[in-house]
Amino acid sequence: MTFSVHGLPVARGVAIGRAVLMASSRVDVAHYFIEPDQIAAEIARVRAGRNAVVEEIRRLQHTISQMGPKEAPHELAALLDVHLMLLQDEELISGVKHWITDRLYNAEWALTTQLEVLSRQFDEMEDEYLRERKADLEQVAERILRYMKGVASPAAQPPAARRRTQQELLLDDSVDVPLVIIAHDLSPADMLQFKQSVFAGFVTDVGGRNSHTAIVARSMDIPAVVGARGASQLARQDDWIIIDGDAGVMIVDPSPIILAEYGFKQRQGELERGRLARLRHTPAITLDGQKVELLANIELPDDAKAALEAGAAGVGLFRSEFLFMGRRGQLPQEEEQYQAYRRAVEGMQGRPVTIRTMDVGADKPLDDGARVEAHLNPALGLRAIRLSLADPGTFLMQLRAIMRAAAHGPVNLLIPMLAHASEIRQTLALVETARQDLERRGVPHGPVKLGAMIEIPAAALILKTFLKHFDFLSIGTNDLIQYTLAIDRADEAVAHLYDPLHPAVLRLVAETIAQCNAQGKSVSVCGEMAGDTSVTRLLLGLGLRSFSMHPAQILAVKQEVLRADTGRLESWARQVVEAEEPAALLGP
Ligand code: PEP
Ligand code: MG
Repeated sequence: MTFSVHGLPVARGVAIGRAVLMASSRVDVAHYFIEPDQIAAEIARVRAGRNAVVEEIRRLQHTISQMGPKEAPHELAALLDVHLMLLQDEELISGVKHWITDRLYNAEWALTTQLEVLSRQFDEMEDEYLRERKADLEQVAERILRYMKGVASPAAQPPAARRRTQQELLLDDSVDVPLVIIAHDLSPADMLQFKQSVFAGFVTDVGGRNSHTAIVARSMDIPAVVGARGASQLARQDDWIIIDGDAGVMIVDPSPIILAEYGFKQRQGELERGRLARLRHTPAITLDGQKVELLANIELPDDAKAALEAGAAGVGLFRSEFLFMGRRGQLPQEEEQYQAYRRAVEGMQGRPVTIRTMDVGADKPLDDGARVEAHLNPALGLRAIRLSLADPGTFLMQLRAIMRAAAHGPVNLLIPMLAHASEIRQTLALVETARQDLERRGVPHGPVKLGAMIEIPAAALILKTFLKHFDFLSIGTNDLIQYTLAIDRADEAVAHLYDPLHPAVLRLVAETIAQCNAQGKSVSVCGEMAGDTSVTRLLLGLGLRSFSMHPAQILAVKQEVLRADTGRLESWARQVVEAEEPAALLGP
């Protein structure tokens, strides 16, 4: 039966495919695709895990059989019997085999997927006693997962190395249907793992439009919906799903008529992309001759390729923290970081690359596990530059790596979340220390321009201080909106109040642009507003000439630029900023 779940639109377009339900497990589980020649080894890993847990339970049974009823109550023995029975249930292992063999999931992913399928069957049971056995099933699956965690995969390479490109998977007959992910939540680190994988779209139960998970989805340019409450409970493994990323809707089990309608919409989208692609080599100049710089936001060095393909004039924001995520405590050292930054710099072939020092914290934990120790108000806590200043050793290492990469092409160094003059002073001193360090050791390095993000209202309100110390500024509207309006950008419950067009936000953005222009300092916007075509004319009218966004949005923004006449937009833009309800003046 067809039904739909509504959420928040994140990344445009239509995806049609089969559901891959990402079970949320209390054990931190890696998800990646394996190669066909690893199938047998992965199945063997699960079997070994199961056998080990069976052995463990048998040993326990033996121990308690020698105890009296007081020390080992009868219920305990009965429980162990149930666990053994569940472990030996063929449906568990045959299902896991199916996900490994037919879908090429790694062993842990296959096990949690099958656990999900069986849990649903338990949920539907009439008998309350049987229904409650679901908890036992979860416990035994967790024991197997924990056992497997202690035993590395025989093909023990990092997951990234095992990731297969979309091309490879499309060429593989065993994976011929597009797959869409449906999950309760996905961390930015999870998203990164999926970046080069097969998924055609995704839906999550929670999350806001500007959470980092949503931002990575947008950078992948696949249709996505977040905050679709109940989606992961309502859809089933392998259901046919339509994701309408423009409307923020997930349709489950669509009828043939609905499928045909969305198939048409999907083709229309592809045609539109084809039309935009023709603008790739067209210079971004407005009707009145104003040159506009369209830059790319990237998360990994290899994204430079997509940036170049979209015709980006450079990288306006390299979110370096993604290099640090999902590393389970093994953070990249100076050499590894240097190689990564260098790859991005060389990848951009002489165009400038703006590397932001790591902005870890809030909704970007280093590992999934780190979320457990989350602070009460992580977005207001030890995040970004605050974390870097609290750990100068790590910060200096990153600064040195960035300066070394600057020997290979133009590099700008961007500092996130500054608000205090004292933080600026400390940061500048550490930048100087890093430079002297390299000089003393005779390590080749290059000059960097220094920039600050304006993403805390306090920074926008003391702009003079920033203008005095930095070569350029970059407005991070995602956080500027969050902190101006006191709205958690990752919380779907308040997403309706997260308003880029709130007059207070617009005033801070307009003032920052105006002051930078008056002083001849370069300024860009690198938050999601820069890639939102509905505000391109407004930002141009406010004097902005540099926009940094996901590569996938560059051509659509360029189209707006080519149609704009900034002379005519200026007074209108001023009116919009002064209005009580700016959105009303912006048009449809
Ligand atoms: C921003 O806050 O607008 C920004 C670009 O940084 P991030 O989204 O990574 O916080
Ligand atoms: Mg930010």
